[in-house]
Amino acid sequence: MPVEEGIYQVITAHPHDLERLTPHVNTLKRDGRFWAVTLKKSFPASLRGIVKKIQSHEIEQKSYEPVVLEINPTIIHAIKLVETNLLKSDVEKLSSYKTRIVGSADNKLAINWSEQKLKAMGYKTKQICFEPSKCSVIADKINSNSSEVILVEAHLDSVGKDFAGADDNASGTASLLEMARVLSGISLNSNLRFFITNGEESGLEGAKHYVKQLDSRNELRFIKLVINMDMVGYNSNGVVELETDSPFEGLAKEFVDLAATYTTLKTKVTIGAWGSDHVPFLEKDIPTLLTIEDWSTKTPCYHASCDKPDTVNYLYATEITKLNIAAVLKHDLN
Ligand SMILES: [Zn+2]
Repeated sequence: MPVEEGIYQVITAHPHDLERLTPHVNTLKRDGRFWAVTLKKSFPASLRGIVKKIQSHEIEQKSYEPVVLEINPTIIHAIKLVETNLLKSDVEKLSSYKTRIVGSADNKLAINWSEQKLKAMGYKTKQICFEPSKCSVIADKINSNSSEVILVEAHLDSVGKDFAGADDNASGTASLLEMARVLSGISLNSNLRFFITNGEESGLEGAKHYVKQLDSRNELRFIKLVINMDMVGYNSNGVVELETDSPFEGLAKEFVDLAATYTTLKTKVTIGAWGSDHVPFLEKDIPTLLTIEDWSTKTPCYHASCDKPDTVNYLYATEITKLNIAAVLKHDLN
């Protein structure tokens, strides 16, 4: 098969894939999650699935000068309620299950624990299962005066290393639970939904299943915003990566401004989404954004047994939690 010309984005982070890929590509640009390449003549057809063809203009630098917004008192009130010690105890709790790999007994226990926690906060909860032992959690704060839904998601499953998966993705799940705790006490105009996904590591299974279910019921049209949190706990430079697809650059820009206004975070925008539960929603043209630690300095324990709670930067995770609370409230007011 002849090698196709043009520019490609690498859409995997698996070390094994990268090792196989690297000899067969020339790098055009690599910054955070975004890695654009051309394919060498030696590029094997077997690797075609881990690169995605993109247009040449898509490698242009996406940098925005943040604009500090007018302060919203509700947002200030809400973000002050975020508690770093609760984030920490939830990361520790989730990492105390021997494994959170999808389908395992401990994964199910962790799912049940997180559902009970959301229920105790007053949310209407349920589990949706894509296989009998593989379930995600939905928690709703309903406002019957509105049909619009703001959805926040994070995956609870891990790749299965013992007592690990603290950054990936107990950190995102704990941030989701802390957002839920804070927002449970704030009256909203929209419906608010938390979605703890499962089977992300095995191919975005829970998110794909749920998007399909919503689509078949014609309910995707109600979702006005999706925020995904995946790996929000390892960082030393204060940069959060904001990832979406090109139709939603404006959304990323909005998060840049919110971060500058309400948090200590610096931001990096990545256009060209891949590799987490935001992708199935973006494929259905739902405004969706991933918040993730700066990929250039991501955890050295990615998918490894050393991904433990003591490697997590809880103050950094706190700032991302605040950013996403600010985004929910901003969209709720719009
Ligand atoms: Zn993950």
